[in-house]
Amino acid sequence: MSDCIFCDIVNHEMDSDIIYEDDKVVAFRDVEPQAPVHILIVPKKHIPTTLDLTEKNNELIGHIYQVAGKLAEEEEIDEEGFRVVNNCNEAGGQTVFHLHFHLLGGRSLQWPPG
Ligand code: C5P
Repeated sequence: MSDCIFCDIVNHEMDSDIIYEDDKVVAFRDVEPQAPVHILIVPKKHIPTTLDLTEKNNELIGHIYQVAGKLAEEEEIDEEGFRVVNNCNEAGGQTVFHLHFHLLGGRSLQWPPG
C-alpha cells in the first residue's frame, strides 16, 4: 500500500470496481456515485493535479477523453449526454490528489455545478 489511494487501486492493492484498464489508465466505479453512471478515469502514472500536467502528458489527456467516450457508449449514456469533470485543488472540489476525471451520466445534470 502507498500513501495514495488511487495508486493502490491502479496497482490492484485496494479493492475497487474496475471496468476498464489499459497500459495508460484505469477506470472504476466511484464508491459514492453522484449519478446513475459515475466512473473515475485515472492515469496509471501518479500526477497530483491538473497543474502538474506538462506537454509530455498531452497524449495521455487525449487518450483519457477517448476512453471516456468509449465508456459512455458502453454505459449507454452517449446519446442522452454525459459530463466529464476534473476537479483541481480544494476550492475546485478535489479530495484525492491523484489526477482523475469523473464520467457522469444517466440523469439530467445541472449547470453550473455547485
Ligand atoms: O474530484 P474528487 O477528488 O473529489 O473525487 C474523488 C472521488 O473519488 C470521489 O467522488 C470519491 O467518492 C471517489 N473515491 C472512490 N474510491 C475511493 C476513494 C474515493 O471512488 N476509495
